[in-house]
Amino acid sequence: MACALRRLFLRWVYSLRATEVKQVVVLGATGSIGLSTLDVLNRHTDRFNLHTITANRSVEKMLELVLAYEPQQAIMACPDAAEELASRLPVESPTRVLGGEQALIDAASASDVDVVMAAIVGFAGLRPTLAAAEHGKRLLLANKEALVSAGGVFMEAARAGGATLLPIDSEHNAMFQCIPANSRGRPYTAGVEKILLTASGGPFRGRSRSELAGVTPEQACAHPNWSMGRKISVDSATLLNKGLELAEACWLFDCTPDDIDVVVHPQSIIHSLVRYDDGSVLAQLGNPDMRTPIAYGLSWPERIDAGVSPLDLISLAQLDFEAPDLDAFPCLRLAQEAITQPGGMCVLNAANEIAVAAFLEGQLTFTGIDKVIAHTLEKVPSVEPENLEGVEALDGRARVCAQERVEQLERDTGGV
Ligand code: NAD
Ligand code: MG
Repeated sequence: MACALRRLFLRWVYSLRATEVKQVVVLGATGSIGLSTLDVLNRHTDRFNLHTITANRSVEKMLELVLAYEPQQAIMACPDAAEELASRLPVESPTRVLGGEQALIDAASASDVDVVMAAIVGFAGLRPTLAAAEHGKRLLLANKEALVSAGGVFMEAARAGGATLLPIDSEHNAMFQCIPANSRGRPYTAGVEKILLTASGGPFRGRSRSELAGVTPEQACAHPNWSMGRKISVDSATLLNKGLELAEACWLFDCTPDDIDVVVHPQSIIHSLVRYDDGSVLAQLGNPDMRTPIAYGLSWPERIDAGVSPLDLISLAQLDFEAPDLDAFPCLRLAQEAITQPGGMCVLNAANEIAVAAFLEGQLTFTGIDKVIAHTLEKVPSVEPENLEGVEALDGRARVCAQERVEQLERDTGGV
């Protein structure tokens, strides 16, 4: 009798736990991934509660989000922007406004937080993303630059902290869906023969190197399939994004670049594939809408509605595939080489962030981006960082070198 009562009591406790509302932090809430995340969360308010949203300095966008979603906290990385946001909120607002990087780190590691969406763009997201990993959160990783730059340091923090690392990059989310759960982290023991990493080819697919010299930031940011932030749009146009994703896949699935082939698939319907020893190839398909991987990251191992329209294969009619053109887009080759160098991807990422910012500001040509990266990789001594301070020091050295190269190219050519 006592046993039966105990069982009933435990079942009741477990049922409460199963329906427990998860507390979610969205780092980079005003961006493309951040807004898609808020859209998915808003469809499932019975499962998720918005604990904190963060942004860099865009007060106007943040104000709209705070008024619409009323999170517990809104954090601006830039303290002045936080002050302005606080002054513009109505006094009765339930949202607490904070400013500065430490506030981002505190939110990502707070004990009452279950889920952290890491959607800050670039190396700037490393510290708060790492904090979520160290504190064992369910970590939805969109911020690929953090993982790629910090590599081993990041993975060790996630392992030691007991974090559940869920890839949000559509390709890695697809691989995650195609590799059985019990073999994740060691796919090659599960009969995986090759991972096929798909690439859209970006807006300039099919152009020669000489046709790329004069392209503008607006053209580079006009991606044919995906609507994304400006930095990743340029990365997609140079194919550097595929280089970051190659390194990302190596860390996430514990494999080497030789285990991964890049396949250009212009329709962005297949998000990646896994080929097995027995000849089977598993692929994940879906409309190009980041709400699908975001919803899967939030609900895994279950599935929830993402608001994405059903895939219509008949109207699609055709799926194409081709090899990447490494002569026209040398950034992918630079990444393939950098992955084999200690700290190489940290240097490459930093140089790319400097070069892309300069391109978007009109200080560098599109084809100048790979020149800056190649120069920086050559000049900055390769070293494997052992901790966060080592990663930040290497990133800093690469940024200085890349910035000097941008300025020299600008002097040589008189700008763009
Ligand atoms: P975005 O530019 O649209 O948004 C970036 C967000 O980061 C904004 O909220 C911004 O306020 C915040 N931010 C920028 N600098 C910051 C700083 N110094 N400190 C704190 N916050 C800062 O970018 P996005 O397209 O949403 O991409 C976000 C991340 O997700 C990137 O790492 C990108 O590579 C990755 N990703 C994006 C997509 C996509 O479809 N957009 C797909 C796959 C991966
Ligand atoms: Mg991707």
